[in-house]
Amino acid sequence: MSSTLKLAVFGDPVEHSLSPVIHNLFADQLGLSVDYSRIRCSIDQLPDRIAQFAAVGGIGANLTLPLKHAGLRLCRSLDRAARQARAVNTLKLEDGGWHGFNTDGAGLLLDLGRIGVNTRGARILIVGAGGVASGILGPLLGAQPALVTLLNRTFERGVELAERFEHLGPIDAGSLDQGPPREDYTLLVQATSLGHSGQSPNIDPAWLAPDAIACDLNYGEAHQPFKSWCDQHTIPCHDGLGMLVGQAALAFEIWTGQRPDMAPVVDEVKAIGFRGQGSGVRGR
Ligand code: NDP
Repeated sequence: MSSTLKLAVFGDPVEHSLSPVIHNLFADQLGLSVDYSRIRCSIDQLPDRIAQFAAVGGIGANLTLPLKHAGLRLCRSLDRAARQARAVNTLKLEDGGWHGFNTDGAGLLLDLGRIGVNTRGARILIVGAGGVASGILGPLLGAQPALVTLLNRTFERGVELAERFEHLGPIDAGSLDQGPPREDYTLLVQATSLGHSGQSPNIDPAWLAPDAIACDLNYGEAHQPFKSWCDQHTIPCHDGLGMLVGQAALAFEIWTGQRPDMAPVVDEVKAIGFRGQGSGVRGR
């Protein structure tokens, strides 16, 4: 039997995914051999494509847009984060069945740790209430912030998401138009997809505490509009590449039992010019 681990990311679009680069760097770091490919796949095709992948030796997969929710149906078991998020980003084949995980939120926490941001006791303002917000809320609330406020363009969507997570910790929701109920947030998380159309959400810096920092979940060119807004208001700002690498490190650990060191991989992906590959592309 080959000692090379057969892995893939499934999604659409997937051509510009950075995951093969990241997982090959992890494998080099740990002296392992992986064959990590990109497989373009629609929601309808997913069950067949995943079965074909397993038939040719695939043992682990990442799911990205638009497959994260559809992936739930493939799984014999789900970890707590996947159940909370109602989405899977990582699949592992074991005992003849797929097991589902969601490493997005824990990946964000890993990255916040890497850059020295403490979430315990933080007042967190999340702008955006889409798929990625639902993936990070469970782990973020588990990290014991003082509170989390979700601000969304579509108010009802934010309220619905906040209600789904209120049993896990202090969370409320507001509309992006009207702003949040307070003005002392210490951590701003930019979780909208606006950066992909060259825009930044309409945030009032007065909503933030003077020492607040910002974390965009977008990276590459999609990060630039929010970065410009942060620069304009002298708010320290981090991009979402570290979260991407963090969630990948946790997926790699699920498949191999070994957790790679993510910090050098963040630097390496930046150094090899990820903008050329991942720039305007959504998902991993
Ligand atoms: P979704 O499509 O599920 O959600 C999009 C969010 O953006 C919604 O809250 C939506 O609000 C908001 N939005 C879209 N257009 C506007 C607008 N014109 N004005 C105000 N708000 C708007 O996307 P995801 O949640 O999956 O992804 C969000 C971002 O996070 C993407 O850019 C993606 O690339 C990035 N991401 C990064 C990851 C990483 O590892 N770093 C992982 C996954 C995603 P509404 O509900 O009103 O439509």
